Amino acid sequence: MAGRNHLFVPGPTNVPEAVQNAMHRNMEDHRSPDFPKLVRGLLADLPAIFGSTKGQGFIFAASGSGMWEASLVNTLEPGSRVLVARKGQFSQLFGDAAQRLGYQVDAIDVPWGMPTPPGELEAALRADAAHAIKAVLVVHNETATGVTSDIGAVRTAIDAAGHPALLFVDGVSSVGSLACRMDDWGVDAFISGSQKGLMLPPGLGVLCLSPRALERVGTSTAPRAYFDLRPMIASNATGYFPYTPAVGLLHGLRASLDLLKAEGLPNVAARHHRLGNATRAAVTAWGLKTCCQVPSAASDTVTTIMVPDGLDAIKVIEHAYRNYNLSLGGGLARLAGKAYRIGHLGDVNELMLVGAIAGAEMAMRDAGFALTAGAGVAAAEESLRAART
Ligand SMILES: *Cc1c(COP(=O)(O)O)cnc(C)c1O
Repeated sequence: MAGRNHLFVPGPTNVPEAVQNAMHRNMEDHRSPDFPKLVRGLLADLPAIFGSTKGQGFIFAASGSGMWEASLVNTLEPGSRVLVARKGQFSQLFGDAAQRLGYQVDAIDVPWGMPTPPGELEAALRADAAHAIKAVLVVHNETATGVTSDIGAVRTAIDAAGHPALLFVDGVSSVGSLACRMDDWGVDAFISGSQKGLMLPPGLGVLCLSPRALERVGTSTAPRAYFDLRPMIASNATGYFPYTPAVGLLHGLRASLDLLKAEGLPNVAARHHRLGNATRAAVTAWGLKTCCQVPSAASDTVTTIMVPDGLDAIKVIEHAYRNYNLSLGGGLARLAGKAYRIGHLGDVNELMLVGAIAGAEMAMRDAGFALTAGAGVAAAEESLRAART
């Protein structure tokens, strides 16, 4: 098919030309005397994308899910109790990972479409007078439902309960796109991966730990091997890795961090807000609903669009891909067939988004939706024009 695939899944996302070019190189010796120059620069610049000057950044050949494991096994004693707020497939999986690693998992479940409830977290922590709960696990941007949680409010809730639990935040679909304030929010482990807001191919897990979490790394008795941060900290201090890093991706990460810095993180977040608003304007014009139930919590990186009863979201995705070379995200787990997702994060601009909205609209009409042709496109255009002027 002529032209490019329109990649509008919420990860992997488009890889900017500057990042592609940075990775297009022969391999090199990762033990060479020159290698630390690259590594030191990356590790110095990494905490900024999490909103941290105090934290320490880590890079693994892994994916976001690997960083769930890395953060847990390096900071918690085996069998510790953790509290997870579940409100979508990724927060469910974060809790599942903890359970499979032998932690005792308490869960607060809210309906999919709702953000993390700070009040319920506070109540659960107050009830834990003995401080058995060692960590609170929260997903910042729930990619399944398109809902962004207020992590500052989560921190306030933990403090109001006077509870010493560590705060772990999954930022896989927020870091590099949405405003992240790790230090202000008192996040102890902020987790991400390469293929979403960082605009890289999949293959890197990135993590930032607070000074308080870092202290635990040395004292925890948990068994760890690949994800053990102790040899990582020792090697990184000399500009190297304890094993072979993903050399090509590291060069891509250099370019990606440079792009984010050049645009400015507040501008990056503002661009995502314009894209999110325009997508939501289209959904409203289609007469459809998003999964997100709280307008102020609507995600600026992914929109989950509910499909009316009797219609099939899987057909929309198929028509979009086959007829228009547009890749849309599927509904996950209990939302399979009932919703589809438009990812609008990373290297995306206004007209790319309008193209995707046009394609989604055409695919929905192909799948039998009663929509007025152009309604969503018109609404998105006006939203984007209003945001520019
Ligand atoms: C994509 C995603 C993950 C999983 O990341 P992988 O890189 O696929 O392991 C975890 N959490 C959230 C919120 C995500 O969006």
